[in-house]
Amino acid sequence: MPDAVVTQAHDAGSRPAAANPLRSGLTTGRISDACNIVFFGASGDLFKRMLLPAIWELHRGGILPAQTGIIGFARTAFDDAGFRDYCHEQLTAFSTSGPPDDELWKTLAERISYITADFTDPAHFTQLKDLLDARDKKSSKGGNRLFYLATPPPVFPQIIRQLQTAKLDPHSNKKGWTRVVIEKPFGTDLASARALQREVEQVFDESRVYRIDHYLGKEPVQDIMALRFANTIFEPVWNRNYVDSVQITAAETLGVEERGGYYDGAGALRDMIQNHVMNLLALVAMEPPSSNDADAIRTEKYKVFAAIRQPKLEDVAQIAVRGQYGKGTVDGKPAKEYREEDDVRPDSNTETFAAVKFEIENWRWASVPFYLRSGKRLARKRSEIAVTFKSVPHRLYGESTDAIEPNVLVLKIQPDEGISMRFEAKVPGSKQHIRSVFMDFNYGTGFRIESPPAYERLIGDAMRGDQTLFTRWDAVERAWELVTPILETWLAERDSSFPNYLPGGQGPATADKLFSGWRPL
Ligand code: NDP
Repeated sequence: MPDAVVTQAHDAGSRPAAANPLRSGLTTGRISDACNIVFFGASGDLFKRMLLPAIWELHRGGILPAQTGIIGFARTAFDDAGFRDYCHEQLTAFSTSGPPDDELWKTLAERISYITADFTDPAHFTQLKDLLDARDKKSSKGGNRLFYLATPPPVFPQIIRQLQTAKLDPHSNKKGWTRVVIEKPFGTDLASARALQREVEQVFDESRVYRIDHYLGKEPVQDIMALRFANTIFEPVWNRNYVDSVQITAAETLGVEERGGYYDGAGALRDMIQNHVMNLLALVAMEPPSSNDADAIRTEKYKVFAAIRQPKLEDVAQIAVRGQYGKGTVDGKPAKEYREEDDVRPDSNTETFAAVKFEIENWRWASVPFYLRSGKRLARKRSEIAVTFKSVPHRLYGESTDAIEPNVLVLKIQPDEGISMRFEAKVPGSKQHIRSVFMDFNYGTGFRIESPPAYERLIGDAMRGDQTLFTRWDAVERAWELVTPILETWLAERDSSFPNYLPGGQGPATADKLFSGWRPL
């Protein structure tokens, strides 16, 4: 049966949706299954800044079925009324659509409850079961349960075990489905990811596990496959015969802010490259799936990782570069060096910049390097994929001083969302001067619609049972395998050059030794 659909109110401009020919007659939102969503870690940072606003937007958009309930579960003491007030306050601060409308808020607030709980105490999980059972009895659509683990990763296994002990596991729930959403990171290295997976699979089979990589929920990321497989002009040149290199960047201007404690144990390779950036690589390099089915797509993504040449310890110096930011000035104000940030060790060896070169050993990509980089305190906030094509084989045009640049297709993910193509054009006049020009598409101005935030899309998908945008275990495990030699080397060998780049720059100079063609930030 097709999903029910609604038109969402995310207009970027004042023009009504139907006035834009690119959207006229379209419906954009899919209604989800009614369920009870339990947010473990509901007093935390992610819940207030991302998850709660996403639930609110789903409610505003009419996508949250009327019988959906929200249950917060964390240590901070609240009663139901107090937690509702807290949610209202947080929405006022963090909602993307401004302070909540009073009447609409009431219709959501009455469905919000809270359990003051400690994950170590089985009695609190029994209390949760009683609450869920009572709600299921009241609702004609009861029985469906979505457990969202928005907690520090070390407690994921504990929650999963407690769910089983309290008979909140999928097999004990005969009335509906039970799914679990697991926040990132899924493990901190290969061994811990495997250990976590062993815990997860004791209770939830893979079809019920939704591992979040919120990058996959971003519209321009979803459009990578549409660009490639809903058009005919790109695929014929999307291979080693025409592509010279691919570079994927996830750059931030911010430092670690208030997350120093977490970040100092993670670093850029674990925090960004192993998950977000590698998932982008998979979407760019995958073969066309046989269908739009979640597993058909996820199998093709896994096959990319399987084909990446496994780095050895002795390769690390040639394929990976790390950096750590020093002190400097940002927006005219003094900025601390990484080692002076709150909760960061003063002698920290953690990288705040990582760049890696991978090679995919298959017919499509043999000998095409994929360069990945991510870092904090860089010149610009920018996430993008740049596919650089080979140079023209024979120079016909251009005065002798003109450079004839290769074509570059840039898929912009954030903060700009769009596609840009660089090509060479003749400058008007009797001479044969050649200059690079750009063809640009921007989602906001094109469709006159704001992309829904990633979490909104992902929570809706988990409620619908669509796993396409969630990472499957085989891909997670393989991604850890690929970065393990780099992680081990960097943990074993201190980098005596740290700090080795200034805030507001391009990252460490050593990144240019890995690849001289990085696009300036
Ligand atoms: P916080 O530390 O802000 O929140 C942790 C939450 O877990 C709090 O609600 C805390 O309750 C609860 N908690 C921890 N231990 C227990 C316990 N033993 N019993 C009951 N409750 C407990 O973490 P974040 O919200 O920042 O992160 C949550 C997850 O989301 C992590 O996996 C993180 O990696 C991921 N994430 C976070 C992002 C962010 O921007 N914050 C971005 C991307 C992913 P209390 O405080 O009441 O004690």
